[in-house]
Amino acid sequence: MTTETPNSGPAACSCCTESAVIYLREQGRHLCGNHFREDLETRVSRSVRENAMIRDGDQIAVALSGGKDSTALLLLLDSVVKEYRDVNLIAITVDEGIAGYRDDTINSAISLASNLGIEHHIISFAEMFGGSLDTFLTGKEDRACTICGILRKKALATAAQHVGANKLATGHNLNDEAQSVLMNTLRGDLPRLIRDSGKETGLFIPRIKPLQDISEKEIAVYLVVRNKWSDLPECPYTRYALRAEVRTMLSKLEYQYPGTMQRLIRSRKTLSRCLKISDVQGPVQRCKTCGDPCSGDLCQVCKLLPSLGR
Ligand code: SF4
Ligand code: ZN
Repeated sequence: MTTETPNSGPAACSCCTESAVIYLREQGRHLCGNHFREDLETRVSRSVRENAMIRDGDQIAVALSGGKDSTALLLLLDSVVKEYRDVNLIAITVDEGIAGYRDDTINSAISLASNLGIEHHIISFAEMFGGSLDTFLTGKEDRACTICGILRKKALATAAQHVGANKLATGHNLNDEAQSVLMNTLRGDLPRLIRDSGKETGLFIPRIKPLQDISEKEIAVYLVVRNKWSDLPECPYTRYALRAEVRTMLSKLEYQYPGTMQRLIRSRKTLSRCLKISDVQGPVQRCKTCGDPCSGDLCQVCKLLPSLGR
């Protein structure tokens, strides 16, 4: 993988004589594999520190689907945590039960965790909710990602609690964060738009997103450089997702108007500073069925399960 200049073939790295593998537009630099790896690892480490995502002694559950983002997340966290004292990583994989898709990514997760020597747990929808996502979705395919997202969030939080973690790290990248801002705006979901899942409220396990400033493209190149790139199948339900359309639209906008994604994320931060979550959502209560914190009588999972026949 190399970057091209208009007339003279592959561009050289701005730091050495090697061929560049990526052009970082914001920095105006071409970088070779080694210099890109160094640059990206430094940026992630700085973002983790500046946003106080990790403290000495943390037990961090890492959501490891086995896909690109979570693979990069575990690789990067494995080196970042060495800068802190007594921090432990525990990888958690959720098996939603999606035929033709999950097996490959689960195998990839198992082999990565074992290569890095990181404790790894797999939790399935079947164990937690009594059925696979495939069975829950019969006739409801158009709501696949909403249903999957609600159940996966609960599965991850439960597993994280079970292994004694005090934080949950997820592989959300810059593109995902910008897509979420736009999707929540399109849905008119102001509470979700301004909610800060990293806040330590004592109610939910705080989530950290160490890749929040790293683009999808940078993650892909990082995996190639680290020799961890593999062509895994895509979830068959992706085509029903609003996110898929938003993703394509945002990529085009980012290409035409560089900085679009960063500006969207900034607008969310500004809104969150101006509004408190309690201004746009009722007070936090306990779910009458399971006791989880929520904004009404029932949490999202307990509202959802009866409609899935559970
Ligand atoms: Fe779940 Fe949707 Fe992701 Fe598939 S694409 S794993 S259904 S959230
Ligand atoms: Zn509940």
